[in-house]
Amino acid sequence: VAKALIVVDVQNDFCPGGTLAVPEGDAVVDVLNAYARDFVAAGAIVVATRDWHPTDTRHFQQFGGIWPVHCVQDTPGAAFHPNLTLPEGTLVLSKGAHPEADGYSGFEARTAEGVSLLEILQKRGVSDVYVGGLATDYCVKATVLDARKNGFRAVLLRNAVRGVNLQPWDSEQAIAAMVQAGADVSDG
Ligand SMILES: [Zn+2]
Repeated sequence: VAKALIVVDVQNDFCPGGTLAVPEGDAVVDVLNAYARDFVAAGAIVVATRDWHPTDTRHFQQFGGIWPVHCVQDTPGAAFHPNLTLPEGTLVLSKGAHPEADGYSGFEARTAEGVSLLEILQKRGVSDVYVGGLATDYCVKATVLDARKNGFRAVLLRNAVRGVNLQPWDSEQAIAAMVQAGADVSDG
């Protein structure tokens, strides 16, 4: 069984002080650092996705979307949290880079060379993906659901995610939808 850890969008704008701060978003950092160390030690791969928006995307409120400006390409808000220690060799994939794209799912993300997450996982023979990061009710959920659609075993790392919770129950509903789609939930 080949495993991959997918670290979803642990970026400054999603952490306290950011423009779209997820409550306790930075609480996932240390937990994911530990997972990343363990995965690399076990010979598994680690990939990190990031929201990577242009300034004029329809994803943002001013252009008809639902979100305040966040994670604009090459700005400090789009950088990974400074305490996130991604192991050497971690592949970074960007999503939401097209003005028409929301880019919720890590499976929409590509490396700078244009390689998709699915291509990376298939090339490495990965069967099981473990997903943590931000936010439970959007990008984590979309990534887990797409992992299931593409035939992967998917494990939500519940101690390594936090939700936006526009409605207070959004994260619990998102987890229920992931479980319904066949994902497993790990509490570490
Ligand atoms: Zn976004």
